[in-house]
Amino acid sequence: METKIFQSDQINQAAALLRQGELVAFPTETVYGLGANALLPESVKQVFTVKGRPSDNPLIVHVADFSMTAEFVESYHPLTEKIVKHFWPGPLTLIFKIKEGSLNPVVTGGLSTAAFRMPDNKKTLSLIEKTDAPLVGPSANTSGRPSPTTALHVYHDLKGKIAGILDDGATQIGVESTVLDLSGEVPTILRPGAVTQEALEEILGIEVPLDKHLVKESETPKAPGMKYKHYSPDTPVLMINSDDWEKALIWAEANDKKVGLLVTPKIADKYSSADRFVFADETVEAATRGLFSGLRALDEAKKVDIIFAEVFPEDHLGLAYMNRLKKAAAQNYFSEM
Ligand code: AMP
Ligand code: MG
Repeated sequence: METKIFQSDQINQAAALLRQGELVAFPTETVYGLGANALLPESVKQVFTVKGRPSDNPLIVHVADFSMTAEFVESYHPLTEKIVKHFWPGPLTLIFKIKEGSLNPVVTGGLSTAAFRMPDNKKTLSLIEKTDAPLVGPSANTSGRPSPTTALHVYHDLKGKIAGILDDGATQIGVESTVLDLSGEVPTILRPGAVTQEALEEILGIEVPLDKHLVKESETPKAPGMKYKHYSPDTPVLMINSDDWEKALIWAEANDKKVGLLVTPKIADKYSSADRFVFADETVEAATRGLFSGLRALDEAKKVDIIFAEVFPEDHLGLAYMNRLKKAAAQNYFSEM
């Protein structure tokens, strides 16, 4: 199969393919999604096959506006209107109880709830409208690999396996959406993202807890998808605490390991090694935007034995950055060996 790259004047063609049941990857402000018409179970099944994604991992249903969710949702949480007004379109996925039979189990993983999001990307909103159906859209990468933040990343993983990619350059945020469970009484964060716990608490005026698996990684997660290995390049990744750079690099030298650095400009200037991916500036926003892209770049160069990555405090956006980095690093920090 030829994988076509569509530009913004070709959204009609991309939508026509989705209506016919083909898969088309789409841009969002977070990462690229692997789109299929959510109302065509055979197409949704293809998403799992193409990604190599475990079939009990539920998908997010992408809508062009809030009213598109009404057909599926059984009951909304009382805070829904406030949340949607404030955060949609945006990097916030909401989980609601759904009407029985309104979505195929292949979408929901057989759960009585489903996840919905209105992405903040004009081309993709237009794509959904023109398809005239909601689109499922897990990240458009091979399962387990870092999520794609450019059309080229998608092409690298899925060329020949999907009908097309709608190109909109690099994504702005760089990690997947926050997942907020609104199916119970207390709104609970299942996955941290760019809509932070602090921002939700400020707008809602209540405490918004993190799901217990996020607090204690060994707990069984509520959502099936959370248990899988994620975001990993082939090259091993080690997280480096700010005081440990010197020691870590000495250790690597002594053990004849060629290191790739994934760091902010300050650290990069201090340890000028040949292979490195440097974030655009010192902020956690820049690091989050560059995280997956950097992991892929260092991995694909095939020149390093190990990736040393910079850590950030685990609050605000830093919680999302560290959540993804910890998975990529299989929880491993450098410690003197
Ligand atoms: P992604 O892996 O980026 O496609 O995001 C899908 C993630 O959303 C899953 O891995 C789950 O963590 C979460 N999710 C989707 N649907 C549900 C649901 N009904 N209940 C809980 N979490 C869900
Ligand atoms: Mg994913």
